Amino acid sequence: MYGKVLICDPVDDILIKKLKDSFEIVYKPEIQKDELLKIIGDYDVVVVRSRTKITREVISNGKKLKIIARAGIGVDNIDTDYAEEKNIKIVYAPGSSTESVVEITLAMMVIGARSLYRGIVNTKNNNFTKLKGIELEGKTLGILGFGRIGKAIAEAAMTFKMKFIAYDPMPVEYPDYVKKVSLDELMLQSDVISINVTMRKDSPYILNEPELSKLKEGVIIINTSRARAINGKDFLKYVKNGRVSAFVSDVFWHEPAIEDYELEMLKLDNVMITPHLGAQTKEAQKRIAIMTADNVIKEW
Ligand code: NAD
Repeated sequence: MYGKVLICDPVDDILIKKLKDSFEIVYKPEIQKDELLKIIGDYDVVVVRSRTKITREVISNGKKLKIIARAGIGVDNIDTDYAEEKNIKIVYAPGSSTESVVEITLAMMVIGARSLYRGIVNTKNNNFTKLKGIELEGKTLGILGFGRIGKAIAEAAMTFKMKFIAYDPMPVEYPDYVKKVSLDELMLQSDVISINVTMRKDSPYILNEPELSKLKEGVIIINTSRARAINGKDFLKYVKNGRVSAFVSDVFWHEPAIEDYELEMLKLDNVMITPHLGAQTKEAQKRIAIMTADNVIKEW
């Protein structure tokens, strides 16, 4: 059967090449909500990355929809419950950007530990003042969420000769160099925390005031997963008063920020945010495109 595919966000060419033998493709990488709601009814498959939200409304209008494909990992921009209710299949590309996210996480750990960001901004203004930092060696890295990326971070961060602890509520396997701990222990013991959890659209925050109040003085927090892992309003005070010495994150509650607490946080020197760059490498984008196209073809 020859189906119709709507691609709503920018994707690697290979995704289109792989699908075009079996599907008619319409590529609208900048489509806005109103247009999407208007035209979705003509399509059998919709492909999105993280920008386009597949809400209940979009699914309701998608009368012919059979597959929603997320060219990436998290599916929290899709109303998965409603899609399942409507018997629409959801495909995505698990594991396709692990290497890229691991590399950016290690870079963020070093950025958090050393004054690289401030130092570079200063030298751009011809200010060569020396700034201090700390070594990662001997410190405890707490990994929150020990799935594909969490595990790969522990493996890669061995190069820093750190101690490793991890918390995950699911029965996952831990290598012998990673100690399984409770969430409280992770908060109390970590010098650096890397957040690598999966979240659904409606998952509650994981770190609220009670958990945050246990943070070690001077902890560095890295988040390359989903901003909603942390309650941002509760968190603001901890970055403001320096209890968190550095918050380096690839994700933000709203991208771009709109809420007062977000705008206030962005102004702080110890808050360093990147615009969701984790999977933005040529290699990861290619793997994502291939895996997404293959999964669409498999489910069709
Ligand atoms: P994964 O499913 O392999 O692992 C996620 C782990 O998080 C699972 O083991 C799960 O049990 C655990 N988890 C869920 N809820 C938790 C909680 N409350 N506390 C602790 N652990 C919890 O996923 P992955 O491939 O490792 O990806 C991890 C995250 O990274 C996802 O959110 C994904 O969307 C994100 N990601 C971001 C980028 C980026 O561009 N920054 C790129 C790829 C993936």
